Order: sequence, then C-alpha cells, then structure tokens
Amino acid sequence: MDIAFEGFTWPERFLVLTTPFDFEAMRGMCFRNYIADPEEWCNCFKVAGDGPPGLWRLVYPADPDAPEESLLADDFVQNKLQNFFPLEEPYEIVHRNLYTVHQRVAANFRKGRVMLAGDSSHVNNSIGGMGLNGGIQDAMNLAEKLTRVWKGEDQRLLDLYDLQRRSYARDFVQEQSIQNKQRLENNDPESRKKSLDGLRATAANPEKARQFMLKSSMIEAMRKVDAMTLEGS
Ligand SMILES: Cc1cc2nc3c(=O)[nH]c(=O)nc-3n(C[C@H](O)[C@H](O)[C@H](O)COP(=O)(O)OP(=O)(O)OC[C@H]3O[C@@H](n4cnc5c(N)ncnc54)[C@H](O)[C@@H]3O)c2cc1C
Repeated sequence: MDIAFEGFTWPERFLVLTTPFDFEAMRGMCFRNYIADPEEWCNCFKVAGDGPPGLWRLVYPADPDAPEESLLADDFVQNKLQNFFPLEEPYEIVHRNLYTVHQRVAANFRKGRVMLAGDSSHVNNSIGGMGLNGGIQDAMNLAEKLTRVWKGEDQRLLDLYDLQRRSYARDFVQEQSIQNKQRLENNDPESRKKSLDGLRATAANPEKARQFMLKSSMIEAMRKVDAMTLEGS
C-alpha cells in the first residue's frame, strides 16, 4: 500500500524455546515470569497446549553476531535452559526458533478503502504481551466504526479509527514495550535497585497496584484513545 512502516529493528534476535517441562509443578513458578538477571534476561510463561502439563515457552536475547545454526544447536539451547533453571537431565524441547524483533508503526492506518489492523499496522517486542492484544483492540474499534459507516454515517469515522489506534500504538505500546525490555536488560546496580524498589512499593500499595494493572493490561490507554475525537486532536 506504499505506507511507511516507521521505527527500528533491534540488533539482537529473540531465541524462543518451547518445552513440556512443567515449571509450575516442578519449580513453583507462576504463569508469566520476567527474570531480570544482571547478566541476561529471560521470560518464562505458560502457553496453550494439550496437557497436563501443556507447554511452556522461554524467550532469551540472542547474540546478533552468532550464526543461526549455533544459536539453535542442541548444546546451546540446553545450556540456556540449564543456566537459568538447572535440571539433572536434558530438557525436552518441542519447538525452537529465532525471531527478528521490530518496533514499528505504520504512518497511516487508512488509505482510501484499505484499513490496516494488527501486525500489519504495528509491531513491538513481545515483553509485556501487547502485540496480539493490541490487534484485538484494533479489530473491536474498527468493527464498530465500519458498522456505523455501513449504516450511513460519515466515512470520517474511519479517519477517527486511524487517529485512535495509531496514537495508541505509537504513544503507548511502543513506549511501554521498549521500557519493559530496558527494565529486563538493565545491568546497572543502582538503577536496577531503584526500578525494583519502585515495583515493590507499587505492589505493596493497593491503589498504586490497581493503577499499574490498568496500565499494563492496556485498559487505561485504550480508554484514553477511545475518548479522542477528530475535532479535539
Ligand atoms: C515470539 C513471539 C511472542 C509473542 N508473544 C505475544 C504475547 O505474549 N502476547 C501478545 O499479545 N502478542 C504476542 N506476540 C505477537 C502476536 O503473535 C502478533 O501480534 C499476532 O499474531 C498478530 O496477529 P495478526 O492477525 O495481526 O497477524 P498475523 O498473525 O501475522 O496474521 C496474518 C496472516 O495473514 C497471512 N497472509 C499474509 N500475507 C497474505 C496474503 N497476501 N494473502 C493471504 N494471507 C496472507 C499470514 O500467513 C498470516 O496467517 C508474539 C509474537 C512473537 C513473534
């Protein structure tokens, strides 16, 4: 559609491993874990899969200069797992892949009769789980407006879709997902302490914790952009 996809691509790819090892039963872990080790970060979370135990997914940053074959080799991926979660036997790995990670938002979500939604209009790193969730919000927003246009309302409603959803992707998801990644990879002892103390203080205060949840579950930003009007912007 000749629409610019503005933003950047991270130098490191994300190594994604999937295993039936039950991190909840065997290690008492919850369904979403973000591990900010000073030397390396890791995400470990439950994904859909027949079970029990179902499937668990691990995400690590991968050296941008290493060849793909060595990053996906058995020894390498077993070491990755063993470094974070030591086990006496090798892990069963049912899927492994390397992903190139972008932070990009389309310059416009509407061109005439063509509307962009989901990953065709915005992509971000997966830390915080905002990609698919944002795409579902796009679909809800657009479906409501398309119905109204179909029933005879002004086509400018489709420009409002562009304004609301592009603002959301650019001002909220990009900023939050970049911050999430930076928090995990931060290895400066002083700012790590400050950031973790901040999270602990938020968790200990019910009102602050609620605000944090409204923000990280993407509800607060959705309410904000849903209130935007073409006249007001
Ligand atoms: C490693 C990883 C982890 C992620 N984790 C999360 C997470 O925890 N939470 C979250 O919310 N999101 C997550 N995401 C993001 C999420 O997967 C995407 O945002 C979501 O799948 C995008 O959905 P979509 O329908 O917009 O695009 P897609 O899933 O890319 O679907 C587009 C479809 O269009 C098809 N297609 C393309 N071209 C054509 C054509 N010319 N004709 C016909 N069909 C075509 C493609 O084959 C594809 O099936 C993650 C992504 C990755 C890579």
